[in-house]
Amino acid sequence: MIPFIQSAFENLIYLFYPTLCAGCQTMLYGEEKGLCSTCRMQLPHINTGEEQSVLLNKFGGRTQVDYVYAYAYFTKKSIVQRLIHQLKYRGKRDLGFQLGRWCGQELMELKGIPTQADMLIPVPIHPRRRQQRGYNQSEWIADGLSQSLGIVSRTDVMERTQFVASQTRKNRIERWKNVADVFQVTKPIAVRGQHVIVIDDVLTTGATLEACVTQLRAAGATTVGIITIAATR
Ligand SMILES: [Zn+2]
Repeated sequence: MIPFIQSAFENLIYLFYPTLCAGCQTMLYGEEKGLCSTCRMQLPHINTGEEQSVLLNKFGGRTQVDYVYAYAYFTKKSIVQRLIHQLKYRGKRDLGFQLGRWCGQELMELKGIPTQADMLIPVPIHPRRRQQRGYNQSEWIADGLSQSLGIVSRTDVMERTQFVASQTRKNRIERWKNVADVFQVTKPIAVRGQHVIVIDDVLTTGATLEACVTQLRAAGATTVGIITIAATR
């Protein structure tokens, strides 16, 4: 393409891009936000108490996770995988916020999982990672959840102290070793005696989340729950 046409084309894409569905790339209409209604209806919701309690088994009693809630199942090549990819690597802030809101709304309709807590804590990323990526998508999800659940999101009570290289190629045992002690509660006074919920985008092995929960427990949090947008089976 000659440069002029190329830039005109890019401008056009830029103009329309924010209104495309994150799942299927079709145009969004009317009240649709982030996802078109077809994709939204196709999301594999985890909407029974039994399915949710199976997620808790990922933690196998090694640490005191009081409850886990995940919005949808994560499977390869699915809409959910595309959503998570867009959050993590494409910086789709509005999508993160929207997913957080929907997740909170869904959660309030489900019985058996608490919807009240003193604070939400998005899983922190290392400052070097933030510099590379420019954002922490879990904070956007927490902001959306904060709006629908009416619980404050705190990003100032905990930090990630170790920079961990990409985990995708590591096996399960290596992952566990990799995340032990990588988090630190910087304001124990803020979490002591509090009911907190840790927020992340995806629950896979649970190693990262477990490391967070362990530190929050050690700092004196009374209950610690987990909410994620997606979870593997
Ligand atoms: Zn769609």
